[in-house]
Amino acid sequence: METLSPREWLRGLPKCELHLHLEGTIVPETLVQLSARNDAEPLTLEAARTLYVYENFLGFLMAFKAVSERLQTPADYELITYEMIHRLAEQGVKHAEVYISVGIILRFKTQITVEEMMAAVERGRMRGEADFGTTVLWIFDAVRHFGPEEAAVVFTKAAQLKAQYPSIVGIGIGGDEARGPASDFKHIYEEAKANGLHLTVHAGENVPASSIWAAINIGAERLGHALTAVDDPELLDILAERQIPLELNVTSNLRTGCCSSIDKHPVRHYFERGLMITLNSDDPPMFGADLLDEYETVQREFEFTNEQMREIAANSVEASFLQPTRKIKLLQAVEQYR
Ligand SMILES: [Zn+2]
Repeated sequence: METLSPREWLRGLPKCELHLHLEGTIVPETLVQLSARNDAEPLTLEAARTLYVYENFLGFLMAFKAVSERLQTPADYELITYEMIHRLAEQGVKHAEVYISVGIILRFKTQITVEEMMAAVERGRMRGEADFGTTVLWIFDAVRHFGPEEAAVVFTKAAQLKAQYPSIVGIGIGGDEARGPASDFKHIYEEAKANGLHLTVHAGENVPASSIWAAINIGAERLGHALTAVDDPELLDILAERQIPLELNVTSNLRTGCCSSIDKHPVRHYFERGLMITLNSDDPPMFGADLLDEYETVQREFEFTNEQMREIAANSVEASFLQPTRKIKLLQAVEQYR
């Protein structure tokens, strides 16, 4: 029997991507297309590539903003959604839960409403799902350093639009943790939960573990990054005991400088301690790695067996916000994969 390369085996492994930003999936080639449509002086491919080169976390946030600002029309949103699903399917991703930076749209985009954006990404999603088979659910992301009042507007939009678009399943806060402590969002997280939305929080990416405690205290069902939990044994015990899913992003942490080198990343340590870890790509072209690259890198660098990678893929299904029937089907597919 022909043996697959590790990469091809991982490609065939059914898996979910749970931490992916729609605006962070735009490759430089697509950015050039968007710029030709929308900029008075269109970007060259070289200039577009330069935007993806930055030196620190704030530089990354600036790059993210620069890309996000070039998304203007409904057609732009439809295009990037469709292209994202195409690329996910090519990596063997069966389902993805995707953050949309609604906080950025509300603050900076005067030419498109959240309603128009939503109708457009839904057109892209339905075409993409039909053509490639990978499903997508949406999470409305607020920018924490814009404060809880602006986040409240984002979460209210999510609750309102959810009736029309059941693909909206949750809310989250991203951005600069140091300037937007989770505790400030407790009340609006309670409201979002009461409105039937799932709760996620980016926590412990570039600030101490207290930020992760704060996220748990406002009811986070999934934690984005949770990198600094490694410094807090008591927190690790809680995460293991409660099996709170962690949306880990190894390559992202290295590229933003939040983790100084790959051997210092706690992914293996978390796994050994029985934490419920998932692997994710965050903003693939900005970090030079999609989810398949991420699986390949983590397996190689941390010497996970195929059986362990299967367990991590199963975690991604279990930690998703999918309906139980679909979860069971996907879990069976993971178990049966050889
Ligand atoms: Zn993120």
